Amino acid sequence: MILCVVNDAPSVLIAEKRRLMISKKEIFDLVQDEYSLIGEYQSTNKPVLIKHNICQKEFSMRRTNFLKGNWCPYCAKKHKKNTKEFKDEVFTLVGDEYFVLSEYKRTLESVIFRHNICNSQFKMRPNDFLNSGQRCPYAHIAPLQKVKKLLDIF
Ligand SMILES: [Zn+2]
Ligand SMILES: [Zn+2]
Repeated sequence: MILCVVNDAPSVLIAEKRRLMISKKEIFDLVQDEYSLIGEYQSTNKPVLIKHNICQKEFSMRRTNFLKGNWCPYCAKKHKKNTKEFKDEVFTLVGDEYFVLSEYKRTLESVIFRHNICNSQFKMRPNDFLNSGQRCPYAHIAPLQKVKKLLDIF
């Protein structure tokens, strides 16, 4: 009996370790070092503790769900921006110079903007507008006229 346990334990441990390493590798391949596996990986159907290194939060999730792309629930909640919030962000940035005409879905999916200075409409990814500082792609003379007016005054 005792011999049995002694003989079996290492092989079971090795098998578990190997499985843990495989699951770790899968996660790291997918999200590189953004997530760490904290808990002991037991089986595909058991939730395992994962840490999101970006927000420092830990959460339990089944490995299969995680690998399907259901990632950090804290960030998923935080990053789910709606159209109104996006419009508010645009307004804070550029005032009423630009309007958002279509629905915001996600940061990398283009929305339609209207540039109120030249009245042109263009498609741009929210991320490019908010974070990369990209603006109306059309060359327009309105700002130039503004500058000229200012020069006339002074
Ligand atoms: Zn997170
Ligand atoms: Zn324009």
